[in-house]
Amino acid sequence: MAYPATLPSVLAVPARDHFAPIKAAFLLAAHLGVVAAFWQTTWVAVGVCLLLHALGGGLGICVGYHRLLTHRSFKCPTVVEYTLAFLGSLTMEGGPIDWVANHRQHHQYSDAAGDPHSAREGFFWSHVLWMMWTPKQAAWNQVTERYTPDLLRVPFYRFMGRTYLEWSALLAVVLYLMGGWPFVVWGMCVRLVITYHSTWFVNSASHTFGYRTFDNSDLSTNCWWVALMTYGEGWHNNHHAFPTSARHGLRPWEIDLSYGFIRLLKSVGLAWDLRTPPVEKLQFGSPRAAA
Ligand SMILES: [Zn+2]
Ligand SMILES: [Zn+2]
Repeated sequence: MAYPATLPSVLAVPARDHFAPIKAAFLLAAHLGVVAAFWQTTWVAVGVCLLLHALGGGLGICVGYHRLLTHRSFKCPTVVEYTLAFLGSLTMEGGPIDWVANHRQHHQYSDAAGDPHSAREGFFWSHVLWMMWTPKQAAWNQVTERYTPDLLRVPFYRFMGRTYLEWSALLAVVLYLMGGWPFVVWGMCVRLVITYHSTWFVNSASHTFGYRTFDNSDLSTNCWWVALMTYGEGWHNNHHAFPTSARHGLRPWEIDLSYGFIRLLKSVGLAWDLRTPPVEKLQFGSPRAAA
């Protein structure tokens, strides 16, 4: 189940001319649901929101979907990999195969023609609008076959792609049974909206604001406040320079909780073969402001 050594050279992004009304309506409804927090709030519900954000967004998306499944930046037992992928699926950002296919395309064509959310097409396009237009299913199937043959071979990932919505619905029911509407509003609506914007800011703000340590051909930046929201993913200029590195924060102040968690896994024997940039590549000059 190796990460493809070379990504396809074909410009694989099909035309995004197919408006996705259901996805748009769902995202709007999730944001409207946040309004209910004004009269459905308890401190325990806020705690549930933060815990699920850390589990789904931090361990699931940042460590699982991104650093493990997309970039194979470390190895771990299958049960750990599947657990991280399952947690990622609870964020309702799509199944692991679709998420990884989009992100591998982003790395191949970063901010150029072919990038599904190029920041050169505008901040709001890269933040959220790109998701409102999707390719037709047959064309998208070609994309996943090209970019994620390793994941398509795994029945668990195909299963999660078919059922991730049902698992989130089940989570909502469990939250309701445990704590009523405050748990649902905070554990689902507020938590999902925070997780969405955290993830989306990596594509928008971390290609716009902050400083650049490496002169990549893309617009990627290191943005401290995105890094805080995303457990270290905001050190995105570093990440584009070393995509397969498990470590994104490279300078002393670049706090990287996701890498800390991967190190923790390693310390208890649940992760190994962590990839990091070669030491000679880490002789930094002064940070430069984004163009
Ligand atoms: Zn990027
Ligand atoms: Zn990446």
